[in-house]
Amino acid sequence: MEKKRFSFIHSLGFNIGFIILAVGLIPFLVCAPIALHAYKEVTIHTDAANIMAQALRYTNEIVTSGYVEGKDNKKLDHELTGVAESYGGRILIVNSSLEIVRDTFSVDEGKTAIWVNVINSMHGQSQYYYDQSSQGLIVTIPLTSSDGEVVGSLVINKSLDYVTSNYDSFLAIALIMLAVVFSITFVVAIVFSARRSHAITSVSKDLDGIIRESVLTIPEKKSFNELEKLVKKFNQVLEKLHAIDDSRQEFVSNVSHELKTPLASMKVLADSINGADEVPVEMYKEFMGDIGNEIDRETQIINDLLSLVRMDKSGASLTITAVNINELTEHILKRLQPIAEKSDIDVVFESFRPVIAEVDEVKFSLVITNLVENAIKYNNPGGWVHITLNSDHQFCYIKVEDNGLGIPEEALPHVFERFYRADKSHSREIGGTGLGLAITKSAIAMHNGDIKVHSTLGEGTVFDVRVPLNYIQKGAK
Ligand code: ADP
Repeated sequence: MEKKRFSFIHSLGFNIGFIILAVGLIPFLVCAPIALHAYKEVTIHTDAANIMAQALRYTNEIVTSGYVEGKDNKKLDHELTGVAESYGGRILIVNSSLEIVRDTFSVDEGKTAIWVNVINSMHGQSQYYYDQSSQGLIVTIPLTSSDGEVVGSLVINKSLDYVTSNYDSFLAIALIMLAVVFSITFVVAIVFSARRSHAITSVSKDLDGIIRESVLTIPEKKSFNELEKLVKKFNQVLEKLHAIDDSRQEFVSNVSHELKTPLASMKVLADSINGADEVPVEMYKEFMGDIGNEIDRETQIINDLLSLVRMDKSGASLTITAVNINELTEHILKRLQPIAEKSDIDVVFESFRPVIAEVDEVKFSLVITNLVENAIKYNNPGGWVHITLNSDHQFCYIKVEDNGLGIPEEALPHVFERFYRADKSHSREIGGTGLGLAITKSAIAMHNGDIKVHSTLGEGTVFDVRVPLNYIQKGAK
């Protein structure tokens, strides 16, 4: 099989590791340059403010002494040179004609300074900026006479070498810190992601065991919450699947048993006729009659099984139509009337209102037929069966009540199970397969309805059915 290149990128371990690395490094990578830039800005601003404050000490003297007009002033010369040296830079004085009248470097005197900052300063603005080429701070301060007239500009250039070298030192520290942070987050990322992905790999190995059928459940182990929950849920699903599997196996063995019983009886009957030398015709007739009954029974079981299988088929298709339940019930009762009459059972149908429900007519007929048939079968001669039909705006209600044999309390929870018979011998005698109520329950479930049973042994039984009037397909919103 071709292995996908870079498939590790999709692994959980890699992703967790990558996220930890990113979370560890991104804030650092974002904050460090911002901090360095802020340091530079703040230093420049503070330096400029200090220079401007300091310069105020000389501006007045420069203007009043006529220094700005070019008059000699040894004291000012000396002071300005001292200040310029302390700044590691240079001081220029420009007069209102933009001519440089003083330069502490004595190189540009007499030249014209057509510089934006100087021109702005002639309009009364103090300014500063960082000059990238000389790596210096240039501050320009207007020289204003006592009557408010700008007579020149003081230009101070301060070397910011120390800022650059501090900046470089900080950068070096930042890079060392970056390497440390990277190493720590890298180790944390590897350890953390390895632990997380190991937990998942271990569950995946346990699942392999389930596929090989060497284990039945995933052992629960300490891991992160979501995985623990997932394992728990998975074990619940497995438990359900095992239960379904068990009930399937039980069903298959029940089916084989039920199908074998009539065959065994037929074999016994046939053997006993074959084994006898001279068999009277009456006996032949009697035995053949019994064999016929067993065949009927076998057919009944097979028919019931087929109905059940049809109900069980997942997504079994229902042919839903609007059915008049009153007419359907009357029709079924008419069919069952002869059986009821045979046992002298009085069947009464009471309808509170006409009920039209969206049902599958064939499958829903089975519900009513099975319940009424049971009420007749498990009854005493001379007994009664009441069927009541009612509805509200949402549901159709059918109640089938009898005053027959009743069901023992301990059997009640099981009557809807396949092949379950409350009274085995009696049920067999009256031709029961133990599948009728299972079919009934499945059919009702397919219509999204439900069924309840109440019974008292020796007094009678009530089955309550409730089915929505409008069919809603399962899974539909
Ligand atoms: P069967 O084919 O045996 O009638 P069912 O699934 O229809 O199977 O019913 C299961 C069992 O429930 C029956 O064997 C019977 O013991 C009991 N039962 C069902 N309906 C009634 C009823 N109306 N009265 C008494 N017992 C009943």
